Amino acid sequence: MGCVHHEAPACCALMSIADITSRIIDFRDARDWMQFHNPKELAVAITAEAGELLQHFVWQQPDQIERRVQEKMPELKDEMADVGILLFELAHNLGVDLGQAMLDKVERNESRYPVAKARGSNAKYNEL
Ligand SMILES: [Mg+2]
Repeated sequence: MGCVHHEAPACCALMSIADITSRIIDFRDARDWMQFHNPKELAVAITAEAGELLQHFVWQQPDQIERRVQEKMPELKDEMADVGILLFELAHNLGVDLGQAMLDKVERNESRYPVAKARGSNAKYNEL
């Protein structure tokens, strides 16, 4: 099946977290960077990259956001990738099955935010 994003046979949509993580770890190890990647440094870097993502929206008013997203999509994509790459590595280093952890969290959110109470509401679960 074709992919709208790439011409390469290995479609992004078919790559697993494990496949992507393996590529990230190969990149890191070829450069001998594990020595710099303790959990605290990775958490700091994730936060810094999330800040770079946020930077694109500083002072943008609600009516400017949609246009900002359109104009800055390449940069936004880069920052989202930076966050994801570091998060995948942190999960790998700590032996966390990130996909399972995310599914577990979605399951918890499903019970915290029952559709009957949460639909159309932006209230936090303890204020529903
Ligand atoms: Mg960045």
